[in-house]
Order: sequence, then C-alpha cells, then structure tokens
Amino acid sequence: MIVTTDEQKKALRAAGKILAGVLSDVGAMVKDGVSCAELDLAAEHAIRTRGAVPAFLGYTPAGSAHPYPATLCVSINDEVVHGLPHAEKILRNGDIVTLDAGLSYNGYFVDAARTLIVGSVVQFETTGEKSLAPSTADPQAHKLVSATHEALQGAIAAARVGGRVGDIGAAIVRVARKYNLTPVEELGGHGVGESVHEKPFIPNSAGAGEGEVLKEGMVLAIEPMLAEGKGAIILDKDQWTYRMRDRKRAAHFEDTVILGKNGPEVLTA
Ligand code: MG
Repeated sequence: MIVTTDEQKKALRAAGKILAGVLSDVGAMVKDGVSCAELDLAAEHAIRTRGAVPAFLGYTPAGSAHPYPATLCVSINDEVVHGLPHAEKILRNGDIVTLDAGLSYNGYFVDAARTLIVGSVVQFETTGEKSLAPSTADPQAHKLVSATHEALQGAIAAARVGGRVGDIGAAIVRVARKYNLTPVEELGGHGVGESVHEKPFIPNSAGAGEGEVLKEGMVLAIEPMLAEGKGAIILDKDQWTYRMRDRKRAAHFEDTVILGKNGPEVLTA
C-alpha cells in the first residue's frame, strides 16, 4: 500500500510495535528442548492478547494449494523460510532458528522475522544490539546471523524514495560478498500494509538502479536471506518449508518499513 494519511501511518506504527513485542516474547522462549509448536502457540497467544490477528494462519499465498496452518514460521538451520512449527521439531543448542510472523491490527498488516542461535547471544556489529550471552562455540553461525542482520540494515538504508527496488537487492549483495555468503535470490521482500503480500517484489539480489521506482509512502517488508552455501532452495515434502538445496545453513531478518521523504521508517524494530 501507499500511505497517504497520518491515520494510516499511526495504525501501521501500532501494528509494527505489537509485532516487535510478539517476536521479542517468542524469542525469549528459544532454548534447548523447546518445540516449534510451543513457539507457535505462544506467538498466537501473544498476538491475540494484544488485540491483533495472526496474518499467516489460514493465509493461502499465490501458487499454494492450501492455507498456512500456523501463526509462526520456524525455520531451523538449512530451512530458510516458511518452516512449519511441528511439535516434533525440537530446538537444540547451536541451532540457527528464524522466527517469522505477520499480523494485522485494525486492518493493517505488518511482517517481520528474526534469526537467533539457540543457547547463544549474537552480537550485531552494526547496532551493538544483542539477541541472547556471548559464545564463540560456532563462529560461522555467529557470522551468518550477524551478517544477515547487517544485510537488513543495509537494505533498509538503501530503500530511498526515487530509488529503485534493485538498490535494495544491491545493498544485500554487497553485505553478502563482504562475508563470503550468498543471498537467497529466489525469494525476496514485498509490499505489505493492506494484505500480507503486495507488490512490488523486492529482490534479495539485484543491480543498483534496476526495477521498479520506490515511491513515497510505500509500505515494504524487506527481508534478506543469506546462506553459507550456493543459495539455491528446494520446497520440502510438507509443501511449505523452503530449505537450502545443498543443506547448508541460512539466516533471515525482516522488518516492515514506510518509505518517508527523508528515509525509511522501521515499524517493527
Ligand atoms: Mg515477508
């Protein structure tokens, strides 16, 4: 959607704040032995008690035959997105876990994702932000997660009114190369605001200056995914979970932003 009124902006900010709180609550539950189904139930509870509605639950994306059966996507290690939160999927120390959720609040939709390492705190270079206690147990996992976070910050900074969607993809590629990682280019970000998925498509790999022009008021879900391997994906037998074809690990961060005249405003931080 294109935001044209202050009321729309206020409503989107309220929705974004709720989603940030939900992901923080569910993120705090991430520890060894917790099942993905527990996280999913907690996410649904956290959304509904805040007066919002899960956006993924019952949503049928374009090209899919069935509605998504859960509130949360939980994608572990070589799973990159849309991981189904099965009860049999149990988190283990050292797992790279992405929590992805969408919600609507008063009719406005936002979408965001965070990647954590079970049992470990990731220190983000760019913001000094922490996600859980320092560990050097798996430096590659820490590099993957903090680089993907940096890719999101770079991608958001590149989302400027009058620029192009390709500028966002180019910023992601730049960070991926810096860390010798690969963007997952078959998937990308999207417009959001009035529904879960809107135009335009936001590439995770592109050349600067390519593609659609970014307009003032656009509401965008920007969501870089970086992989340790070649970056190609396959759809799992469950028909939802996308995993890396070479079974290497991937990470994913996402925020919803409004493109303002003076730069992007992050709604879900
Ligand atoms: Mg999304």
